[in-house]
Amino acid sequence: MSTASIQHHPGDDLLLALAAGQLPTAPALVLSSHVEDCAHCQEQLRVLQAAGGALLQELAPAPLRDDALARALQAIDAPQAVPAAVPVRGLPPLPAGAHWPRALAGCRITRWRWMAPGMRYARVRVPHDPAANVLLLRIAAGMYLAQHTHSDRELTQVLHGSFHDGRAQFSAGDFDAADTQVHHQPVVQAGSECICLASIEGRLEFNGWFARTLGSLVGI
Ligand SMILES: [Zn+2]
Repeated sequence: MSTASIQHHPGDDLLLALAAGQLPTAPALVLSSHVEDCAHCQEQLRVLQAAGGALLQELAPAPLRDDALARALQAIDAPQAVPAAVPVRGLPPLPAGAHWPRALAGCRITRWRWMAPGMRYARVRVPHDPAANVLLLRIAAGMYLAQHTHSDRELTQVLHGSFHDGRAQFSAGDFDAADTQVHHQPVVQAGSECICLASIEGRLEFNGWFARTLGSLVGI
């Protein structure tokens, strides 16, 4: 994917929380997966970090090293991690055109498990935080997820294909944050399956008994 094709980005609040190291493992991982491929968000992070640094100086006046300004400017101008085409090792293959985010390097991914017709999921095991709830969803073309809302925050990064959730279309590279205000039913577009990386905090709240059973089956 190219940065130009990315339509949906995280808000400044999430980027700030990421920059400040305030996000739990699961959402931080999904958000990092977006930022590493998104020049727009990398630039936004730099602006926020610079603004945050300035704010900090105002709040806590302290003698600065003579070269503090030069060092800060150098840090801001330093090239960001270049999205390299280096594949992440040790993870299962993805469809042509898709690649694993480098943020997942070192993670282990379980095999794809059946969830419902046309739907599979896998868990992402994060070595330093085994309790982190990170999932991969793999949904066949034309299928839809049960309508649901969220008891807490759900972050999604599209790795492959695209879906429409009644609000907007989300394609590879796009990011989505849903919370209790969002009541949606993602439908995968025809022509290609869709693979998403998602972090789930709290539980999904499904509307129907089938979906509720599904939710408890998957443990989300
Ligand atoms: Zn972005």
